Amino acid sequence: MTDQYTFDDPVHRYGRVEPPVQHQPEPGVQGQMTPVPDLGEETYRGTGRLEGRKALVTGGDSGIGGAVAIAFAREGADVAISYLPEEEADAAHIAELVEAAGRKAVRLPGDVSDAAHCRELVAAAVDALGGLDILVNNAGKQIAVENLEDLSDEQFEQTFRTNVFAAFWITKAALPHLGPGSTVINTASLEAYKPAPDRLDYAATKAAINNLSKGLAQQLAPRGIRVNVVAPGPTWTALQVSGGVSDEQMQAFDDESTYQRSGQPAELAPAYVFLASPESSYVSGETLNVNGGMPTP
Ligand code: NAD
Ligand code: MG
Repeated sequence: MTDQYTFDDPVHRYGRVEPPVQHQPEPGVQGQMTPVPDLGEETYRGTGRLEGRKALVTGGDSGIGGAVAIAFAREGADVAISYLPEEEADAAHIAELVEAAGRKAVRLPGDVSDAAHCRELVAAAVDALGGLDILVNNAGKQIAVENLEDLSDEQFEQTFRTNVFAAFWITKAALPHLGPGSTVINTASLEAYKPAPDRLDYAATKAAINNLSKGLAQQLAPRGIRVNVVAPGPTWTALQVSGGVSDEQMQAFDDESTYQRSGQPAELAPAYVFLASPESSYVSGETLNVNGGMPTP
């Protein structure tokens, strides 16, 4: 594969991951995974689609958000990334690649499940970038729990704070800075419509993100701000190895999609680029499913 524009068989663009069972504490460090996911480091080719834009990507240190940060930079955007302090090594890797693309990289560690931090995060990003016109709410928490009796009140609340409340707090803080042509892109999941029985809290947040985005898209259309969603299917990232799935599911991760292989973060980034760029001017309130051929409503 040369770059994302190479014509090949999409089903076999990547092999099956067949991950060995592995465990890391939350949030998981991508650099310590086996194998390390492909974020498009060697393959993503920019064509100037986001020239001069200023983007904030939460969870931009690794996985899907990391791939998005690389792609945005190669398309010409300056990028601020938010992540947890434990992920500094992953964040440094992404910042290096953003700078190698000739763009500004801003590292903003902190916990987005805290409302005050979300407001500080936006202020710091706006300050460092000199404005903001692309917001990607992508940070996510996923911890599999088999039985409802074992799903703690604390986890249920923390999953919602991280996946839904943070998007609300960050978007609200960003709004005064977003002019016409700005875009908000939220990250949902196939789980929004196909909830796994051991991910009740997580799947419910993803349904909420879809719904919230479709309502907000209508509210913000008169201001010229578009709001869209990307809904990934099974993608090989640190989420899986830090409690996101059971050992059995990790071993069978490749079997979840129609393609019978996991997706790689590099395959998600172009969807975010499309939704961030003005070529999607007539697209708002949409969920773009990137899931290896899984049917969705
Ligand atoms: P990832 O672990 O690489 O990225 C998730 C990021 O969320 C972490 O890097 C971390 O920086 C951030 N995060 C988590 N809790 C945080 C907190 N309290 N404060 C600040 N940052 C926090 O995994 P990923 O799979 O790339 O996840 C990105 C998004 O994609 C998530 O919203 C996830 O739900 C969604 N998603 C992933 C899959 C998949 O199969 N990997 C499928 C559907 C949706
Ligand atoms: Mg990470």
